[in-house]
Amino acid sequence: MKRRLAGLVLAACSLHAITIVENGKSAYTIVTASKPTPSEQRAAQELQRFLEEMSGARLPIVPDTKSVPGPKLLVGDSAAVKRLGVALPLAELGPEGFVLRTKAANVIIAGGRQRGTMYAATAFLEHLGCRWFSTEVSVIPKRPTIRIDTLDVTEKPAFEYREPFFTEAFDKDWAARNRANGAHSKLDASTGGKLEYYPFVHSFYELLPPEKYFAAHPEYYSMIDGKRRFERGQLCLTNEHVLRIATERVEEWIKQHPEATIYSVSQNDWEGWCECDRCRQAEAEEGGKHIGPVLRFVNAVAERIEKRHPDKLIDTLAYWYTEEPPAQVRPRRNVRIRLCPIGICTSHSFGTCPRSAYFLKNLKAWSGITNQLYIWHYNTNFSHYLLPFPDFDELAADIPLYKERGVVGLFM
Ligand SMILES: [Zn+2]
Ligand SMILES: [Zn+2]
Repeated sequence: MKRRLAGLVLAACSLHAITIVENGKSAYTIVTASKPTPSEQRAAQELQRFLEEMSGARLPIVPDTKSVPGPKLLVGDSAAVKRLGVALPLAELGPEGFVLRTKAANVIIAGGRQRGTMYAATAFLEHLGCRWFSTEVSVIPKRPTIRIDTLDVTEKPAFEYREPFFTEAFDKDWAARNRANGAHSKLDASTGGKLEYYPFVHSFYELLPPEKYFAAHPEYYSMIDGKRRFERGQLCLTNEHVLRIATERVEEWIKQHPEATIYSVSQNDWEGWCECDRCRQAEAEEGGKHIGPVLRFVNAVAERIEKRHPDKLIDTLAYWYTEEPPAQVRPRRNVRIRLCPIGICTSHSFGTCPRSAYFLKNLKAWSGITNQLYIWHYNTNFSHYLLPFPDFDELAADIPLYKERGVVGLFM
């Protein structure tokens, strides 16, 4: 699990060089599983396309239904891989991990069936020098002869959710090749899908729309300065009817959006937490933290949802007034917290800047109570989008720090 997404661990030996293409000619065949998944099929096509662009040689793609003579690029697990005496550690690799391995003159380019084999193909092309920097800037080196040393690479993503949130990153090819798997990318069945949210964030009033409930039940909404209100308010999270209605609504969302992995039960994008006696009591029991009643509520929804949908996740935010972790309650197995460092300095890493010390403390505290933390990281200037945003030092230092702290999802 310590293996990083970037950075291949290569075991190279020049004595065993393998020639895949020589002067634009190749004896190799791309062999897929007998019934490849769509993303495995795409992996084979990507290899065919870019090897041809590099060298001029167009390798045939053949499913593993008959014996293929000559050396092979074996894309995905298949009987042909097993005939070579190679057992892939598929269970350990999970849906997105992969191996690159040479066996005699053959190259095994294979991984998890959802996206792993597809990532293996990209990693192999990267090993040959290909890069996809943006939707318009790629580097595909011209190499009429393609020769490699022996390969023995195993990779697994450091994060289960990887979402760079900017327009170019939504492009299907860019996202697939750069191993992004987030909700906003245009990844589809051909790329092994993606991690989908429904709704994405700030969902309290989608759970209980004030226009539907406030007139008859003001007690469902925040008490602020002694008065129930919904304008710039939140929900009263200790009201049992609010819990019942919210749970029913999430059940409806799961029916309407079965493609989603995560359903968001999260605060509105302003303050206005409930100050009723019961909500205050819950906060007091949780060390005086506003997240206390939020996480108790989210856990309660997640516990009810889990009975019928054990594979679905419930998300909430640790953001703004809820960024500091609670004293007692812990996120359930099927809950994901998105911790949002909105107040940090993005010029310096968390560990080196006094302005970010508060966040490092919160990150450490959260990572002490959950190993399923997601991060909503900030990497733009919301007041001046076109200004340069010099956060390269900060990002380079803090992404590994997130990993060290047990973070499993990154939205940027
Ligand atoms: Zn309340
Ligand atoms: Zn700073």
